Amino acid sequence: MDLGLKGKRALVCASSKGLGLGCARALAEAGVDLVMNARGAEALEASAQAIRDDFGVQVTTVACDVTTEAGQAQVIEAAGAADILVNNAGGPPPGMWTDWEREDFIKALDANMVTPIALIKALVPGMMERGWGRVVNITSQSVKAPIAVLGLSNSARAGLTGYVAGTARQVAGKGVTINNLLPGIHATDRADALDRGVAEREGLSMDEAKAKRCATLPVGRYGTKEEFGAACAFLCSQHAGFIIGQNILLDGGGVNATL
Ligand code: NAP
Repeated sequence: MDLGLKGKRALVCASSKGLGLGCARALAEAGVDLVMNARGAEALEASAQAIRDDFGVQVTTVACDVTTEAGQAQVIEAAGAADILVNNAGGPPPGMWTDWEREDFIKALDANMVTPIALIKALVPGMMERGWGRVVNITSQSVKAPIAVLGLSNSARAGLTGYVAGTARQVAGKGVTINNLLPGIHATDRADALDRGVAEREGLSMDEAKAKRCATLPVGRYGTKEEFGAACAFLCSQHAGFIIGQNILLDGGGVNATL
């Protein structure tokens, strides 16, 4: 299928590894020039060079913390007249509902709600003027079904979801779509970190902790960043212009719900 994206330009935040990288690679495969971002410059440049070598697209790297105002200014400048925005950042740490103070919530809200909103506000007006744009926010299955140890994520991502629900319908008439992709468990560093948390809390080995989490998924395995990236590229494609303000779950059947 031709995604109709050749020559478009995308800002993919937090994309040196994991799901962001999966999205960057899938967009590059469709012919999209990229601005990639992460805090660590070395891994970012290595991932960017692999994309240039594999797909022959232009890739600009911006090594910064996208959850800071200074970082946002840097990626916005590099993005220029971007057609596509993929919002992503690291997820908040796990813990107990009794652990978190105001500062912990502010940090989670900054990273997983206020940052994507700031980038939407910066880049969507240009997309509207040009009559075409795509925004995909990487959120979490915790929006559909709360994860007890990830209360900070449950809260911040629900806030972004509400914002997107309203905003997506205000910009759709100008050819801009905004949607959320909700990852369930995918095989990334983040999944390793959460496996480690289970292992430590329950006195299990890493293999046992992973097997325990895999057993919660009807598909019997973790998702891959390639599968996730392909879904993102489709949402950004010319075929997805009628998909507005949706929350699309990629979870191997993990969330037990009819809708
Ligand atoms: P990951 O494998 O840990 O990768 C995170 C990527 O984001 C890295 O490239 C990292 O590079 C970059 N990054 C992190 N914080 C950043 C920041 N403040 N500014 C710029 N770049 C930043 O994580 P992932 O599994 O792909 O997860 C991506 C998002 O999906 C997270 O919000 C996570 O909570 C959510 N999620 C993941 C899963 C899962 O199972 N994997 C499930 C549900 C939700 P640097 O460290 O060098 O900055």
